[in-house]
Amino acid sequence: MSHPLGEYELVIGLETHVQLKTATKLFCGCATRFGAEPNSQVCPICTGMPGMLPVLNRHAYELGVRAALALHCEIAPFTKFDRKNYFYPDLPKSYQISQFDVPISKNGWLEAAGEGHTVRVRIHRAHLEEDAGKLLHPESPVGRADYSLVDFNRSGVPLLEIVTEPDLTTPADAHAYLTELKQVLQYTGISDCDMEKGSLRCDANVSVRLRGATVLGTKTEIKNLNSFKFIVKALEHESERQIRVLEGGGRVVQETRLWDPVVGETRVMRSKEEAHDYRSFPDPDLQPFVITAEEVERIRRTLPEMPAARRRRFVESSGLTERDAEILTADRAIADYFEACAALHAAPKLLANWVIGELRKEMNERHLEAESLAEKLPPARLVELARLVEDGKITRLVGKDVLAEVLTSGAAAGRIVADKGLAQIADAGALEPLVDKVIAANGKTVADYRAGKKPALAALIGQVMRETKGKANAPLVTKLLQDRLGA
Ligand code: ADP
Ligand code: MG
Ligand code: ZN
Repeated sequence: MSHPLGEYELVIGLETHVQLKTATKLFCGCATRFGAEPNSQVCPICTGMPGMLPVLNRHAYELGVRAALALHCEIAPFTKFDRKNYFYPDLPKSYQISQFDVPISKNGWLEAAGEGHTVRVRIHRAHLEEDAGKLLHPESPVGRADYSLVDFNRSGVPLLEIVTEPDLTTPADAHAYLTELKQVLQYTGISDCDMEKGSLRCDANVSVRLRGATVLGTKTEIKNLNSFKFIVKALEHESERQIRVLEGGGRVVQETRLWDPVVGETRVMRSKEEAHDYRSFPDPDLQPFVITAEEVERIRRTLPEMPAARRRRFVESSGLTERDAEILTADRAIADYFEACAALHAAPKLLANWVIGELRKEMNERHLEAESLAEKLPPARLVELARLVEDGKITRLVGKDVLAEVLTSGAAAGRIVADKGLAQIADAGALEPLVDKVIAANGKTVADYRAGKKPALAALIGQVMRETKGKANAPLVTKLLQDRLGA
């Protein structure tokens, strides 16, 4: 990585908020659906009316435990909720219900695939809390209007805050961690992790210190990071800024900074002196919550195989490359699909090539979701097509067209090949006249080839392939051309 670190090293810790995939909010029965009419999913509880009483959403609690288990955390047998007090117009109660000293889980870890090495990050804690509302700042004809609006649909939506130890040392590793975290949470059905919809938000803490130093430098916290790309950029930029400060004889000030994606810089939001004193105390409206070891085990048993384990299995038992395994496991539905295909075929690698190459391309072009893939193209259909190519019944080139046709018409590959006469031509007698024709029509290319320009042969092969609409056996065409041209 081209990061002008000099004799400095970076220390990074991430605080990630993910929205838990529940139908209703954390402490009331309001819906959590994204994109609804403003203030259409609210009630006295999530708008903080006097006398309201919150009740914990059991599903949210279980999803939190599920996430914590996926992150190898210890689950607290006893947990409680606290009020975090501060004033802001999007916070109707003037406190957020969160977890202060007894979070649902702590002391976990996650391993991510970094560039050429494994990134291991300890998870400090993961706790439940409610989201705030959303402020809207309308535009008027003369600029920003002199009032703001607030939408409480998001108020009370369940979040899990996942806090790492300061274990990351490069922006690229931070990216790898977030990618893995997102994958794990999506695999386990805990969150959509859709940054555009705000269901994954990340604050990045960073400090620098002289390489080998044992104490941590003073950190700053960067907010307003709404894409992984911005997180990397912000970390690079902010660490460079800190190094410049230190090199100039100054001291880094502990503060919260905002990332400005337009200018590509961070700027001060508030300093430590302005930091809130949240005066946290246990929420008297909510009972402490107890979970038994049996319940924890019951939730643990419902966890699917994690993406890292699946990648390893794909490499070790299916003979795929790390890169192939990474692509195939990025989306759980694609990985499931690949496995369903591989179960019907002795050479998983060949099927992986189809899925990674042609099939993904077709899916992109057709806006086909991975979830509906098996329905559109049953695994047996793809395997049939792959076999037609392997057995030499059709060429690889024709196979690509047949795949598109199978997806469009839903017909079996063998049927399409028979109906359209797409079988491979591997008969010298049938190809010789075409070879002669191409030689006769491309005098210049033939002369080039004979004059020693070897790449000219590829052009002639291409011509013969075109004459046969891709059906000719390419090695045979090559041999016939070479024989004729006296190579
Ligand atoms: P705060 O009290 O400011 O919220 P915490 O100790 O709770 O700080 O840590 C918040 C996040 O910052 C964690 O992810 C932690 O790993 C990270 N962090 C803490 N100290 C440092 C540091 N010196 N440099 C980089 N990251 C740090
Ligand atoms: Mg903190
Ligand atoms: Zn409500």
